[in-house]
Amino acid sequence: MKPFTTCVHAGAKVEPTTGAIMYPIFTTSTYVQEEPAKHKGFDYSRADNPTRQAYEEALAATEGAQHGLSFASGLAAVQAVVQLLDPGSRILVCDDVYGGTGRLFRRLFAKYNLDFQFIDMADPAAVKSAAVKSAATKLIWVETPTHPMMKVIDIRAMAQIAKSTGAILVVDNTFASPIFQNPLNLGADIVLHSTTKYIGGHSDLIGGALMTSRQDLFEQLKFIQFAGGAVPSPFDAYLMHRSLKTLGVRMMQHNKNGIAVAEFLASHKRVRQVMYPGLKSHPQHTVAAEQMSGFSGMVSFDLNGTYDDVLKFLKKLKIFALAESLGGVESLVNHPEKMTHASVPEEMRKKLGIGPSLIRLSCGIEDTDDLIADINQAL
Ligand SMILES: *Cc1c(COP(=O)(O)O)cnc(C)c1O
Repeated sequence: MKPFTTCVHAGAKVEPTTGAIMYPIFTTSTYVQEEPAKHKGFDYSRADNPTRQAYEEALAATEGAQHGLSFASGLAAVQAVVQLLDPGSRILVCDDVYGGTGRLFRRLFAKYNLDFQFIDMADPAAVKSAAVKSAATKLIWVETPTHPMMKVIDIRAMAQIAKSTGAILVVDNTFASPIFQNPLNLGADIVLHSTTKYIGGHSDLIGGALMTSRQDLFEQLKFIQFAGGAVPSPFDAYLMHRSLKTLGVRMMQHNKNGIAVAEFLASHKRVRQVMYPGLKSHPQHTVAAEQMSGFSGMVSFDLNGTYDDVLKFLKKLKIFALAESLGGVESLVNHPEKMTHASVPEEMRKKLGIGPSLIRLSCGIEDTDDLIADINQAL
């Protein structure tokens, strides 16, 4: 099936006792057994729950994966992946990785004798030389497009490096969504989503997901999910599954608005630079056009002015709400330096270009003309 059909139908089951077209929310912690260890495949809801299972089938289908696993948050999914590793492992991480992922690596997992190396992965040669430098390199952590600088990383090139060194390649695909980019098809071993963002899509939940077609990794991750217990509630699993049905149509409008807003900003004299992979001027536009079928609604730009000018701009916006997060139906604006990326070490922020005049937009699914008019009056 093609993506829009998959979104609507994957994991959909008719409820057998009533014929209800919508599968129920099974609010149960446990399941009655006929005899000890003789049951219908469910024994405890941390291990499995029918509502969650239906949603996980749908998640797998959206990425063309054999298996899907859902988590209580995107970062719980990140944790599960890191827990695959033995102490002493070395992990290569893209330098402008999501702030919360970087914080988890630097402040929590670094205590467990794991060595995180942050590198600019827009340069595959730098990744290659870092990977071959040590046999302890076990994981390559890619996020593309990155956050908030919108760098694009060549997933096929990363997959080649991972294969030749025996490392696992993980791609955080949150920004592109499964509609515009499928990293498993490009050679990745695991795909990660913060389903809080585009998959949830309505700014009303927190969730995470992992998809893989590697049986060995699935079995280990399934054990980590069960043993660690960072699972979503049946209510959240239902809500995310429901959201998935409209992912395709939502992404089309996010993409339309993203392109229009990026082009408008690029033509405005108050704007110094626009970062959007769909613009021809983007340094990795060619790679983006090869591995993505759309560019989403995330646009970063540098205002040609001081922090005071930025504050005035933010106050004047009427439709774009000042808030963390992204990927919801409503448009949001964020100031990475003071908000989402405040936990990134200052010298790293400087190196990446996350300064006082950088603004990040999450274009929602409102009318394009209204979004542009709002930005125009605020500028
Ligand atoms: C939000 C986000 C995360 C973390 O997900 P939570 O659901 O907030 O825990 C990870 N990666 C990216 C790219 C994100 O945007």
